[in-house]
Amino acid sequence: MKVYVLRIGHRPERDKRITTHVGLVARAFGASGFVLSPCDEKVLEKLREVEERWGRFLEEIACTESPKKYVREWKGKVVHLTMYGIPVDEVIDEIRESGEDLLVVVGAEKVPPEFYEMAHYNVAIGNQPHSEVAALAVFLDRLFQGEELRRRPAGGRLKIVPSERGKRVVKSGGEEGLS
Ligand code: SAM
Repeated sequence: MKVYVLRIGHRPERDKRITTHVGLVARAFGASGFVLSPCDEKVLEKLREVEERWGRFLEEIACTESPKKYVREWKGKVVHLTMYGIPVDEVIDEIRESGEDLLVVVGAEKVPPEFYEMAHYNVAIGNQPHSEVAALAVFLDRLFQGEELRRRPAGGRLKIVPSERGKRVVKSGGEEGLS
């Protein structure tokens, strides 16, 4: 099952940081693609840098100026995360068991009504307002049932050695040290 995240309604003048965090969560929590709308090269570049430094999880980092068309043309299921949706626990097994590729849509300020209509599932992570970053992390973790945190990325210049204290990082050449 391939999972892509589509971040819509990004406002380049104020959302750079939170949209970057949406992308980082997509990458770290099991998605294989991140698509941003509208385009903001600075955010995409930051994600590419992280992939180069820490290893590749994302097969695609892209943007679109036509998010509705992107959703319409997606081959598979579409999940829109919204506090107005169906509680995640009521639908997550059905979504996982469909085995179809999945597009997960997260908004910014106000999501146009068409996205609610086009989605196969409008899913709530609790029916209270919070954050697209939190909503995406919880949704992906429920979808993958924690397995996503055990994956290892391909390549990368640096690899963390888990430790109880301090920071242990191995460089791809094998050199090790504290940073
Ligand atoms: N009123 C907006 C809404 O429709 O959910 C809240 C906007 S919130 C700042 C930005 C995004 O965070 C939303 O578009 C949605 O994708 C996500 N989000 C926030 N709270 C959520 C929740 N409880 N469940 C699922 N997604 C949520």
